[in-house]
Amino acid sequence: MNMEYRRLGNSGLYVSALSFGSWVTFGNQVDDTLGIDMLRTAYENGINFFDNAEVYAHGKSEEIMGNALAKLGWSRDTYTVSSKVMWGGSKPTQRGLNRKHIFDACHAAMKRLRVDYLDLYFCHRPDLRTPIEETVRAMSDLVSQGKVMYWGTSEWSAAQLNEAHGIARELGLHPPTMEQPEYNLLKRDKVEGEYAPLYGRGLGTTIWSPLASGILTGKYSKGIPDDSRMNLPGYEWLRKKVETPEGRRQIEIAGKLQAIADELETSLACMAVAWCLKNPNVSTVILGASRLSQLEENLKSLEVVPKLTDEVMGRIEEIVANKPKPPTDWLA
Ligand code: NDP
Repeated sequence: MNMEYRRLGNSGLYVSALSFGSWVTFGNQVDDTLGIDMLRTAYENGINFFDNAEVYAHGKSEEIMGNALAKLGWSRDTYTVSSKVMWGGSKPTQRGLNRKHIFDACHAAMKRLRVDYLDLYFCHRPDLRTPIEETVRAMSDLVSQGKVMYWGTSEWSAAQLNEAHGIARELGLHPPTMEQPEYNLLKRDKVEGEYAPLYGRGLGTTIWSPLASGILTGKYSKGIPDDSRMNLPGYEWLRKKVETPEGRRQIEIAGKLQAIADELETSLACMAVAWCLKNPNVSTVILGASRLSQLEENLKSLEVVPKLTDEVMGRIEEIVANKPKPPTDWLA
């Protein structure tokens, strides 16, 4: 399979169209040995971006990834790695997007990941208690210090992104380069709707949960398998979500999409990831996997993209029926 590389927004950095992240899995379902195998498989298939966060398994996820990176010993200029700041611990100074926590968290993440700079550093959510200017200054300073190459946000509103850009412009600081939103066949509002005006200005996106935590593999139609993330302690909220009427509706939609995947002679997982890749405003789709076979399977999604013709996309659209309404052009 030939990996595709996409420009991260209007930066000069090219990230692999498929990337690999560790939320839920590293530290809960993936140990040091499997972590190495997964990173190696990803890298050998052209993946050059590995996603992480301080909060994932309370730091353990970054430790496992850091151990794997050290063991694999790839040249530092051949891959990119991220962390995210927001929830570092329970004490008031260990959370949020204030200057102190941003700096402490960055230093701690570099130590756990065993790297001397982070390529991408995300504000994991907006912090309504810290002035955006303080956050923009702190992130920009990390870039100036060479500890971070590019900074970005995750699940910020378009208004918050605009504010951050305005502050950066006004004060001559480094603006955010990328945003990490959820995007999949069941969740499209931000990427296709709210952010639409921002792409022209060069916003890159590193999108998460392309399979909606496994719903878009179709496997939950037969009930939740014992070894799924839905059964992990601490993730009861995720299970509850799929057991709501909305969750059941989504599982039904996945069942209908399965028929199209069968026709295309691919898995629903690959079709769902390929559907995300079709969107040119997606810089990279972050894959998640609790075992090697899932990663190997999902890597095949690049081959499915050409099968998603306009006709097939139209049929998918009819099933999901959730295309966000574009802003009204009052001059049309
Ligand atoms: P997905 O929606 O793709 O879910 C991945 C999970 O689905 C796997 O762990 C596995 O769960 C199941 N799965 C994946 N592939 C298959 C397959 N082929 N067959 C059967 N089951 C499969 O992605 P994630 O939710 O893991 O998100 C991906 C990454 O995005 C994260 O690792 C993280 O880096 C990032 N992220 C960022 C967030 C943010 O707030 N910025 C939030 C969430 C994620 P199981 O085996 O347990 O059933």
